Amino acid sequence: MTRSREDWFDGLFRDSLNALLRRVMVIALVLGVPTIIFLFIALAPDDPVVAWTYPPLLAFLLTYAWVLLRRPEHTVRFSRIALIMCETVWVAMLYYRLVTGPDITAAWHGLFPTWLLSHVIFLLVGFLVFTNRQALVNAAGVMVAVVGAGLAGLLPRGGEEHVLDLLRFGLYLTFIALLLQVLSRAKARLAVAVSAAHQATIEAHQMRDMAYLDPLTGVANRRRLIEELTFQADRAAPDHPVAVVYFDLDRFKSINDTFGHAVGDDVLCRVAQVASRVVRQDDVVGRLGGEEFVIVAPGTGHDRALQLAERLRSVLPQEVGEPLGVQVTASFGVVTLRPGESATAVLTRVDGLMYEAKSGGRDRVAGAL
Ligand code: GH3
Ligand code: MG
Ligand code: MG
Repeated sequence: MTRSREDWFDGLFRDSLNALLRRVMVIALVLGVPTIIFLFIALAPDDPVVAWTYPPLLAFLLTYAWVLLRRPEHTVRFSRIALIMCETVWVAMLYYRLVTGPDITAAWHGLFPTWLLSHVIFLLVGFLVFTNRQALVNAAGVMVAVVGAGLAGLLPRGGEEHVLDLLRFGLYLTFIALLLQVLSRAKARLAVAVSAAHQATIEAHQMRDMAYLDPLTGVANRRRLIEELTFQADRAAPDHPVAVVYFDLDRFKSINDTFGHAVGDDVLCRVAQVASRVVRQDDVVGRLGGEEFVIVAPGTGHDRALQLAERLRSVLPQEVGEPLGVQVTASFGVVTLRPGESATAVLTRVDGLMYEAKSGGRDRVAGAL
């Protein structure tokens, strides 16, 4: 359990680092490739290490650049190979310089500061490309190889006076590696916390949608409509009218019976879409149930609400009925919300008007203040 949790931390940490890693490596390449070419031209004639190691290093770096740009999915794997290769070359160079330098003290001092800084960079990159545990192993390997190669280069040539410095450097690398480990774990936990918060927000939105949206049509459901009516009843005033438009599809049962339930569902979805399109942004369109819909329109007076209902009534046959080859009309009731009126009371009022429209012959609007 603990183990898989840690792997998860590491995985998440590396995912978020992948893009960062690519940017870091591209910068390193942009700076590194010209530097290697420059150093090769300047040093290769007198330095066999440079002459032999830099051309393959350059070839490798160019391949690496190609991988970063063209095969980003291999970035991590290739970065690991590049890192281990660089570390090996640097340790070999350390040994070679100590063994071949004209005098051991000059050879030792010649390693600073570039050589020292390179190893610090290697440790840093290690924490970017490996999991935390692997990066620690990598750091321990670098430390042991550096101290081992250093001792092997120093001792046979009488460089004992530098051994203490070498060991101090090894200790310094260990300290940096442990520090990086602590920082890296803290960042991984932060990444997990951020991701968990993000996930929780998504789930909260999904739950809110489930609680407030009609699953078939995607418009508000009954619960949302009741809450909106209750909320708007508190705000309704003579200078802030709130219109409520209620409509019921005409002879919808016969659409189901003749064309099937699926076509019926399609009609309901299209009606919801058309209604959502004709209203304003602040208006709430909802499905109260069955083939009954409600529009709550804050800031809309009675006349404008009648126009809205009339417009919707007139577009339903073409916009919903024609594409599906069925006859779709609806009967509307329109009222203005009274201040403090309950949702049930206003729905009863507007339902009564809608029935007036039905009994008056359907496909019409009936309104009252
Ligand atoms: P009227 O003009 O008097 O309103 O007639 P109507 O046929 O529309 O009225 P009625 O209330 O008899 O029929 C409503 C139908 O709506 C009955 C029911 O099968 C259907 N219905 C309710 N919910 C759904 C749904 O989610 N999908 C489909 N396809 N049909 C539904
Ligand atoms: Mg009906
Ligand atoms: Mg009905």
